Amino acid sequence: MRKIILLFCYLGFISAASLQASKPPRRPKNIILIIGDGTGLAQLYAAYTAKGGKLNIYQFAQYTGLSMTSSFDDYITDSGAGGTAISAGKKTRNGMVGTGPDSMPIPTLPELAAAKGLSTGTVVTCELTHATPASFFAHQPSRKMYPEIAKDMTNGRGDLLIGGGYPYFDTAELRKRGFTTSIGMEAMKNNTGKRQICFYNTDSSVQKATVRGNALEMGCRHAVQKLSRNKKGFFLMVEGSQVDWGGHDNDSAYLLNEALDLDSAAGFLFRWAMTDKRTLVIVTADHECGGLTLHGKNTWTGHPVMHFSTGHHTAEPVPVYAFGPGAAHFTGVYENTELFFRMKKLLRL
Ligand SMILES: [Zn+2]
Repeated sequence: MRKIILLFCYLGFISAASLQASKPPRRPKNIILIIGDGTGLAQLYAAYTAKGGKLNIYQFAQYTGLSMTSSFDDYITDSGAGGTAISAGKKTRNGMVGTGPDSMPIPTLPELAAAKGLSTGTVVTCELTHATPASFFAHQPSRKMYPEIAKDMTNGRGDLLIGGGYPYFDTAELRKRGFTTSIGMEAMKNNTGKRQICFYNTDSSVQKATVRGNALEMGCRHAVQKLSRNKKGFFLMVEGSQVDWGGHDNDSAYLLNEALDLDSAAGFLFRWAMTDKRTLVIVTADHECGGLTLHGKNTWTGHPVMHFSTGHHTAEPVPVYAFGPGAAHFTGVYENTELFFRMKKLLRL
């Protein structure tokens, strides 16, 4: 009898221990923040429809929330103020990047992370000097100050920057600050520098998804391989920048291709995070663009029938999808600035 009791105790210990081992961590070591510029609920549902009812973002999302996007001075935000609310937790004036409404620089999430020894980086499908990446890695009163934004990024603490905008950067200055520069996707793969800036091309613009292929996913792959070497963790901001441009152009095909490209990159990152187990992945938007309505489905193509009510941004709240340790913190309806505070708390910055 005593032997049987001992056996039960032993089995109980084993199952408790294995339960302990399989329990996911409550806090993330790394955060990957994916921003679909101008990517509201309808944009992603359009991609879901076009893909025949499959979307990585829907498949992996464990918790969802809604983010309200108004800026300091406008009911409808631009990408500068929208990005700054998420990067630095402060509502600012439209057109400003990484500053408060008084134009004074405010610390951003990647800067706070770098100060604690984490690695930081970004992968975008626009110029690196464009509003969203600038909100995270620069501080200027106007998003149009491209040379100044490039200078801020050069003198900043980012470890890896992947995007366009080569002409705005001074390569000699980049070298002085320890950056290894590469141009093109093949060169990016071979870029093993301690700090890296990888441009898609020498042009200032970035091609559409139909031309650039899976550059975004390749950039994300390169980014997690490099940044995850840091034992202290990392913060990575990924942007599907051109969903917004499809919205501004009221171009359904352009918008759909960019949204699908964003979902492919997100799918890669979700799968990577699933293996890693210590990475929180958040997918959200800075605002909606185009006032997109889906008012039917083409029975031949299976694509949604898309109607735009404006060529500008709208005020509608945007969805937040979260996966991994800490994902439960992103439920609810909140101001976009909350995203900053919740990520900051989870990374203990
Ligand atoms: Zn826009």
